[in-house]
Amino acid sequence: MSRLAQTHGLTDVQREILATVRDFVDKEIIPVATDLEHRDEYPQQIVDGLKELGLFGLMIPEEYGGLGESLLTYALCVEEIARGWMSVSGIINTHFIVAYMIKQHGTREQKEHFLPRMALGEVRGAFSMSEPALGSDVSAITSKAVKDGDEYVLNGQKMWLTNGGTSTLVAVLVRSDEGHPEGTAPHKSMTTFLVEKEPGFGEVRPGLTIPGKIDKMGYKGVDTTELVMDDLRIPANRVLGGSTGRGFYQMMDGVEVGRVNVAARGCGVAQRAFELGVSYAQQRHTFGKPIAQHQAIQFKLAEMATKVEAAHAMMVNAARKKDSGERNDLEAGMAKYLASEYCKEVVEDAFRIHGGYGFSKEYEIERLYREAPMLLIGEGTAEIQKMIIGRRLLEEYRFQG
Ligand SMILES: Cc1cc2nc3c(=O)[nH]c(=O)nc-3n(C[C@H](O)[C@H](O)[C@H](O)COP(=O)(O)OP(=O)(O)OC[C@H]3O[C@@H](n4cnc5c(N)ncnc54)[C@H](O)[C@@H]3O)c2cc1C
Repeated sequence: MSRLAQTHGLTDVQREILATVRDFVDKEIIPVATDLEHRDEYPQQIVDGLKELGLFGLMIPEEYGGLGESLLTYALCVEEIARGWMSVSGIINTHFIVAYMIKQHGTREQKEHFLPRMALGEVRGAFSMSEPALGSDVSAITSKAVKDGDEYVLNGQKMWLTNGGTSTLVAVLVRSDEGHPEGTAPHKSMTTFLVEKEPGFGEVRPGLTIPGKIDKMGYKGVDTTELVMDDLRIPANRVLGGSTGRGFYQMMDGVEVGRVNVAARGCGVAQRAFELGVSYAQQRHTFGKPIAQHQAIQFKLAEMATKVEAAHAMMVNAARKKDSGERNDLEAGMAKYLASEYCKEVVEDAFRIHGGYGFSKEYEIERLYREAPMLLIGEGTAEIQKMIIGRRLLEEYRFQG
């Protein structure tokens, strides 16, 4: 355990899980992450290891074969994994969101059908809201489902599916006008469909195409794809929760826990950047002494460590709030916003501490520098978080005069 980012009040079980994950990260992820990332190679061996550790079922209830752990345990595991390699946490994250949505909103049959195999990592989840013309403005979704007997026919194009190729179950949000009269608010006429498919690219199910991997600046190894629906037929029993019109709320619930998760990733990447910076600063000499002995560098390290601590505390607070059953959109929005901004700043400082070597692919910080920006965008940009935070504050502090 490092001095920074400690979490008080954990149970013995939580401490044991975290120690196991940290050991796995140090031995199995950090030594290979940068090479795999440079080759944009899917980390199959690491994923197999995570399956063995039971991480795909960490929050799935025990009655469905999972470990039944809390959001806090999950977030702390994600923090550890992102410290090793952010892409690996991305592989788990969409799976976790879909499992969470089924656990919270699925019918009994859907839970029994999917959750035990999701706990084992046999069924792997992705979720799909974004489209080519929209990401922040989810209410503008144009993909559509039309009822046809006992089935729905889905058409439209989706964008930016993390794990789009490797997943076998995609939670897809589309507009479904059936049962919702003209003039219904957009978010009340959306439905989440649980779409099963083969892994891979091309036509992975009749009417469903995953065209290929999007080439990204960072966050490599994990596949990010488009998804094209062309008269895709889905049985009515694969509407999440059994009735249409609830998709927007189900997805927002999923994204809310996803935000804690993105905050946790920011914490993990920032921790790693700090570790790299503080280590390099003691080895590199200029003007007759280690650069860590120059006050300007010490100040940087002080700022970086303070940001690591603050982000961790906010992330833990947001997770605990959700675990207590309370609404946590304010805390999750704040944690996501602060952790992702701080992560970018801490990574930038560690990069500067490395001087010219930070620009070399031989140094791990080069990878982190390309990874951190993704956290500013995923699960809602900084502007969207500030909108959520601002709206909630005005609810809480309503002017009484
Ligand atoms: C690597 C990667 C993986 C992703 N994975 C997934 C996934 O698995 N599933 C999924 O559904 N999506 C995924 N996304 C999509 C992601 O959620 C969106 O990119 C994100 O929500 C932003 O949407 P956008 O890109 O359409 O930007 P836009 O919504 O077009 O926003 C562009 C800019 O305008 C700002 N903006 C927008 N509206 C406002 C406003 N009202 N006020 C002020 N500023 C505003 C934004 O903050 C941003 O700076 C992924 C994205 C990336 C890059």
